Amino acid sequence: PEVRELLLSRITDVPNYPKPGVMFKDITPLLADPKAFGALTDTLVELAGRYGATKIVGLEARGFILAAPVAVKAGIGFIPVRKAGKLPGATLAQAYELEYGTAEIEVHAEDLSAGDRVMVIDDVLATGGTAEASLELIRRAGADVAGVAVLMELSFLPGREKLSGALAGAPLDAL
Ligand code: IMP
Repeated sequence: PEVRELLLSRITDVPNYPKPGVMFKDITPLLADPKAFGALTDTLVELAGRYGATKIVGLEARGFILAAPVAVKAGIGFIPVRKAGKLPGATLAQAYELEYGTAEIEVHAEDLSAGDRVMVIDDVLATGGTAEASLELIRRAGADVAGVAVLMELSFLPGREKLSGALAGAPLDAL
């Protein structure tokens, strides 16, 4: 509960960003506060243990920032899931729908394999499209989804519902 209050106190609401009508959750004050960033990292490391995770996937771009210190502290590998066209090696790609149009994410195929238990980390779960596509990538690579952890869930959007099929019983934790 104190961690939750600390984290909340370091997240700012920015109205009309990146476009009119959107309330953007800005986590840069949290990243700039080592006490808050440290508490977030420790909480995620604990979750990684509870999930029995053997790999940490971070979703570009803010997911990278949150996931990397967790992977180092947990002593397990960090795998970037990137927007299409950024990874140099052989990739698996997954397209998903945005409000207008589609997007595509990729992972290096050799980074995930059967027997891996993967924890996915991102900053915000909004519609759930990005996280859902990442779970499809993980399964297509032959790995298991150990759980998804996000700093924030926008509970006025149906992200959790959208994700439930792809989670297939794996936990979704919003801090
Ligand atoms: P979704 O695919 O609609 O769930 O959107 C989630 C993705 O969009 C995440 O990778 C977030 O980083 C980003 N996102 C959506 N809304 C916000 C916000 O208010 N603040 C920061 N990132 C956001």
